[in-house]
Amino acid sequence: MFENLSERLGGVFDRLTKQGALSAEDVKAALREVRVALLEADVSLPVARDFVKAVEAKATGQAVTKSVTPGQQVVKIVHDALIDVLRGAEDPGALKIDNPPAPILMVGLQGSGKTTTTAKLARRLKEREKKRVLMASLDTNRPAAMEQLAILGTQIGVDTLPIVKGESAVQIARRAKQQATLGGYDVYMLDTAGRLHIDEVLMDEVQAVRDVAKPRETLLVVDGLTGQDAVNVATEFDAKVGISGVVLTRMDGDGRGGAALSMRAVTGKPIRFVGLGEKMDALETFEAERIAGRILG
Ligand code: GDP
Repeated sequence: MFENLSERLGGVFDRLTKQGALSAEDVKAALREVRVALLEADVSLPVARDFVKAVEAKATGQAVTKSVTPGQQVVKIVHDALIDVLRGAEDPGALKIDNPPAPILMVGLQGSGKTTTTAKLARRLKEREKKRVLMASLDTNRPAAMEQLAILGTQIGVDTLPIVKGESAVQIARRAKQQATLGGYDVYMLDTAGRLHIDEVLMDEVQAVRDVAKPRETLLVVDGLTGQDAVNVATEFDAKVGISGVVLTRMDGDGRGGAALSMRAVTGKPIRFVGLGEKMDALETFEAERIAGRILG
């Protein structure tokens, strides 16, 4: 089990003399523990280092409030600093979907939860925002993935573009746009093909689809349990296709959510939603406070 940060810091500060302000040594000792806690939460080393440096500058010399212990005070400073980094979009759940039909491009590696997330998001737009949504699978290599999206569509009562064998991803994107326009849909979602690793063929295809669809939002779906890999995937996708936000899946797992911090710090892209299970309603708007609490333990 992870030791939580307050417990760790309690240990550090027990050894320190009571003073009115946080001395440089107090802060240094505490921040060593913070750094370990961040690394255990799967925050990448350079991000943890920069973060701790920023907190150090903020905390040193700060007066210790009478009602809290120095340990609690450092936890609060760290907590607030985490939220500062994590909070990206003013309203992460507000997607740019005016001017119908608005295209949303869903990208990510195979197995990240992309198809599931596409359906979850479609359901959310339908139920909460009363939008008419059309979903299309562009995964021409995996007929099972196309079927999966159609099955989920039926389950949640959202239309999917009929599957036509032999079409390319770009052809499907064009047909989706046409059907969304003719059919009076508010939004159409393109669930692009995923591969196990990023490769040139995949990126070329996603770029070609992007150029045809001109998406209002390009959401990268990444597995929140994959830590540093998730950050690398986000950096690559952003460089090649440009993403407008991230959806972190499997946040119902026992990971500590450090990927969220690394992702924000490295890519600067807002995390918009988190996946919290396999069910269609297990998608929530990203909340910086919740993830900060989780990282700190
Ligand atoms: P894709 O290959 O990226 O399209 O991945 P899928 O959408 O097919 O998802 C792969 C597996 O992950 C499926 O069994 C999903 O039910 C599961 N999955 C997706 N999102 C989540 C999540 O947020 N939490 C959990 N526990 N499982 C998820």
